This record gives sequence, C-alpha cells and structure tokens, in this order.
Amino acid sequence: MNIDLSGRVALVTGGSRGIGQAIATTLYGAGARVAICARDGARAQDAARALGGGDSARGYACDVGVAQQVEDTVASIERDFEKIDVLVNNAGITRDNLMFRIGEEDWEAVLDTNLKGTFLMSKHVARGMIKRRWGRIINITSVVGLTGNKGQANYSASKAGMIGLTKAVAKELASRNVLVNAVAPGYVDTELTRSISDQAKQALQAAIPLGRLGSGADIAGAVLFLASDFASYITGQVLVVDGGMVM
Ligand code: NAP
Repeated sequence: MNIDLSGRVALVTGGSRGIGQAIATTLYGAGARVAICARDGARAQDAARALGGGDSARGYACDVGVAQQVEDTVASIERDFEKIDVLVNNAGITRDNLMFRIGEEDWEAVLDTNLKGTFLMSKHVARGMIKRRWGRIINITSVVGLTGNKGQANYSASKAGMIGLTKAVAKELASRNVLVNAVAPGYVDTELTRSISDQAKQALQAAIPLGRLGSGADIAGAVLFLASDFASYITGQVLVVDGGMVM
C-alpha cells in the first residue's frame, strides 16, 4: 500500500527545520514537488536544496503572520509550481510563561504566527484548490490545544484556535473537495522543545504509554496519510500523534 503523491505540489510552512522539515522530506519522498517557507529564506532554500532543489523543491522567505508576505509568497509559489495541492500549516512558535507574566507582545507574537498565519495561508492557498476542486489543508496543532498546559496560555489558546479554524474551514470547503484536518503532536524532540530540562523530559517520557518522545517522522507519517487518497473521506478531524499520552 504505497502512497504516491507524484503530480502533487505541497507547501510546508516552517519546513526549514524540525517537524516541518521532516514533513517536507516525507512528502517529497512520496513524489510531491515541495515548496518550503520560513522567515529565514536562506535556511528554507538550504532545506529545499537538501531535498533535491531545482524545479522540484524551492525555499521562500515568508512570515506567515504578515498578510502581504503571505499573499506575495503564495503568488510566487503558484507561478513557480503552477498550483498548490497540499498546504501544511506547520510554522509555529512558543513564548512560554505563566499567564500573569505574558505581555501583550508575547501573546500577539504567538497568536500571529500560529493562528493568524494558518488563517492567512489557508485563505490565499484555498482559492486555487477550490478552482481545481481538489485540495488538502493540514494544520499542525498540538495536544495542548486539547488539554491546555501550565505556562503556555498563549500557545494553548493558539493551538485550540487552530482546531476551531480547522473545523469551520472544513465545513466551508467540503463541497469543493478541499479537505481540512489537523494533526496534534505530543512531545517531539526539536529546537522548540530543546529547552525542556532532562528531568522534565524523563517525567514526560514516563507519562507516554509508548515510552518515548515523538520524532518528526512520526508526525510526517500522519500528514502523508491525510494528504493521500487513502484519506479522501476524512475532513474536520484532529489526529492525535502522541504515543498515547492523551486518550
Ligand atoms: P521548530 O523546530 O522551532 O521549527 C519551526 C519552524 O517554523 C521553522 O522552520 C521556523 O523558521 C518556522 N517559523 C516560525 N515562525 C514563523 C513565521 N512567523 N513564519 C514562517 N515560518 C515561521 O518547531 P517544531 O518543533 O518543528 O514545531 C513545528 C510545529 O509543530 C509548530 O507549529 C509547533 O507548535 C508544532 N508542535 C511541536 C511540538 C514539539 O514537541 N516540537 C509538539 C506539538 C506541536 P524561521 O524561524 O526561519 O521562521
């Protein structure tokens, strides 16, 4: 049962490192041509070159929280690749602190990238998907969007917001064969989680029934499935990929 995405074009936001890079690598490995965007355009281009570069993988500089940059980047990608079939809204940041210590700037930065970025990208990319009557939007949320987490009020709110956005847009676009789902990772070892102490990591590991932190490849597998024809009757869902931590 091989998944073949040849002929498809995927855009992975935040595909220059971590989970996004693993997703880009997996989609490319399944035959898709891949566009990667990140604020650091040079790093996005390096990641695209590492995949194979040329006409099949390209990197773009884009801050997903800035409307004009999103509009311009989507237009460039559609010019370079002719279309976008699969959008993975993966770009995300944390600015962790207890609620009383979260300033307006840290609230807005997290909401702008994680939630507004997902909204802006979906809005601009979905237009072409609707015209072609085929599309997949896959939003990378988090288990803390379902459970909440101490010290992550801004991040948890952004990730819960992404779940509401996923369901609303899934209902709006279903009649055009554009499927919208979310993947909710548990703890994955990346730059985002590297600041967690070894002690905290051990405690986390003990709370995970499968007994290990996740890898980028674990998340990418779920994204690949949702991008494939095997998922053509699934929309508006949240697929939790967390080793069984949240049941
Ligand atoms: P990461 O290693 O820090 O990578 C984040 C990526 O997003 C980078 O490519 C970064 O590139 C890009 N990015 C950040 N802000 C951006 C912006 N405003 N516009 C465009 N690109 C932006 O993070 P990760 O751990 O792979 O996380 C990826 C996603 O998974 C995030 O949405 C995160 O919330 C979610 N997630 C992660 C975990 C985990 O345990 N790691 C768990 C649950 C959910 P630039 O800095 O160059 O922009």
